Amino acid sequence: MTAGPDTLEPMLDTARWRLLAASSAEDAHAFTEELGRVSVVLTAARQPAWSAWSHAFGARALLLDGDTDGAAAAVAAARAALEHCPASADRALTLAYLAHVEACADRYDAALQLAVDASLLADQLGAPAGEPGATVSPRALHQAHHWLSLALTRLDLEELAVGQARRGARVAGQLPDLGDRWQLLRLCAQQHAELAQTVQRRGDLARSRELAEAALRYATEARQLDWEPTDADLDLLDVVQAWALTLTGELDAALPPLRRVHRHLAAGDGGPWLAGYADLALARLLARMCAREVLPTGATPPSELGEESLQLLVSATGAFAAAGDRRRYRQCLLELGQATAALGLTGEALHWLDAYRSETSRAHLRSRELWAEMFVRRSRLREAQRQTAVLRRHAMEDTLTGLGNRRSAERRMAELRDDRDPVSLAVVDIDGFKSFNDEYSHLHGDAVLRTVAGLLEEHSRTGDEVFRWAGDEFVVLLPDTGEAQAVVAMERLRAAVADADWAALEVPAPLTVSIGVASTDGSGGSGGSGPRSWRELFDCADLNLFAAKRGGRNRVRAPGGGQPSAVPTRSPAATASVDDLVSQVLGSAPRRPGWAFDDGEVRS
Ligand code: GH3
Ligand code: MG
Repeated sequence: MTAGPDTLEPMLDTARWRLLAASSAEDAHAFTEELGRVSVVLTAARQPAWSAWSHAFGARALLLDGDTDGAAAAVAAARAALEHCPASADRALTLAYLAHVEACADRYDAALQLAVDASLLADQLGAPAGEPGATVSPRALHQAHHWLSLALTRLDLEELAVGQARRGARVAGQLPDLGDRWQLLRLCAQQHAELAQTVQRRGDLARSRELAEAALRYATEARQLDWEPTDADLDLLDVVQAWALTLTGELDAALPPLRRVHRHLAAGDGGPWLAGYADLALARLLARMCAREVLPTGATPPSELGEESLQLLVSATGAFAAAGDRRRYRQCLLELGQATAALGLTGEALHWLDAYRSETSRAHLRSRELWAEMFVRRSRLREAQRQTAVLRRHAMEDTLTGLGNRRSAERRMAELRDDRDPVSLAVVDIDGFKSFNDEYSHLHGDAVLRTVAGLLEEHSRTGDEVFRWAGDEFVVLLPDTGEAQAVVAMERLRAAVADADWAALEVPAPLTVSIGVASTDGSGGSGGSGPRSWRELFDCADLNLFAAKRGGRNRVRAPGGGQPSAVPTRSPAATASVDDLVSQVLGSAPRRPGWAFDDGEVRS
């Protein structure tokens, strides 16, 4: 398959949804075939997000081939590619899909870690305020919840799986595609029924009933949608609904639909997993019927029901083993052990329970409760780390322009002060900004601040750093730079602002900046040598800024003079030193900017 850059993106997008749908299908062949069709396009895509998908689908293919090590390496490659992707629903979906791959590979730790990351991101994106700057595609978000729910089920974290399915259904409710909604409602019904079964086994009958009733509601809602599911989807929904009916005690209502699906699947329609699922549900229903104290007239005798239930359990066990669903395989082994023990078939019971024990000691040593606790704790920890990172960013960043704020400028100065090389500092101030604000609006003023910040950054030399100091005042730090070079660099910034196409930047009137420069090798300090502390350096640059303003604005001034301005002005006062400036411009009272950091020596 070949494609130009314009057609590539939609092609990749379509390929991704098709592969996800094929991953949900029971028939592994459908997935490998689909992947074979699109793998050339996927592997050729350079963007990290597509590279992550390419590795993720590759991991599933390797797993289907039984290459678990290869699959783990592909998951790691996908994770590495995701590091370069922004926070988005697509990223959450990729993480959730990877969690599912790892869960299928029985790699609990890796799966859990991925599931934590995916759920944190999906929950943040789905929160009313959302993640600032993140893009949220509802389709990707609902799929993220879908895959997370499936992965968590595999990890035996059923409560969490139900939570994710519910979130997914909420997102799916806003999607235009009825098929997407149907699938999520079906998943919700299934996850509620599964949890109802587990809760009942633990003895909480009231909660089990509530969950089973919720499962029935979701199933009914799915049926009410004007959408035609596939036969397999409908069979699965029938099984889930019948199972939920069983759990609410409506055994006689559950039997006919289960028998119908069972007959249908026994005729060879559908894959082994679905057949196993129907067998398991019917086995459980028959076991309950067999245990009834009062039998309806004409009912099948309990011994026959018990025998059929056992046979169904055996065939479900085989089906889950064939389909690679080890979790349900384990469940079936346990239920077989319990059922045969209840019938007094001790030898058989020991056989099944031994098989169950060896399965569980291999993959399932830790209890569900422990994992659930871990999941919640790790989620909290990640959230705390995220909050700390956000706070740190806010503390050091100017939110309006995205530049480092005054605090980070001061921190940087403290780091730079031990440098041996000359250092320069420039203070940049927008000309006539107050009247601009008054004439247009504060919002327009904000746009100017952002534009000037962008221009200063764009036209700064590599290694120079721009900060927003306060109001309309910016600071540029120029490491390893003497005064002459600093003046040239600042002249470029001044010209960049003056010559910017302000109309194109949607700013109603053009603006200029004035810049004052000071350098440790300059003549601004007392005694003729350069300033020795940051405070002196800043004061010197600030006074030169004042001189630039007085000289007519839109110009650069330094102790040694600075560049001539682009705009003709009244005689600019060339400045020689801080002392000269103080006496020339301010009389005897120098303007003192507020300082929050310790004065440090600046070595030249
Ligand atoms: P000069 O050429 O002498 O610098 O004149 P000016 O009008 O620019 O005077 P000055 O630099 O003192 O004015 C700064 C103005 O910046 C005053 C204040 O209203 C405005 N300002 C400070 N912070 C913000 C901000 O975050 N957004 C907006 N829109 N305006 C701000
Ligand atoms: Mg100003």
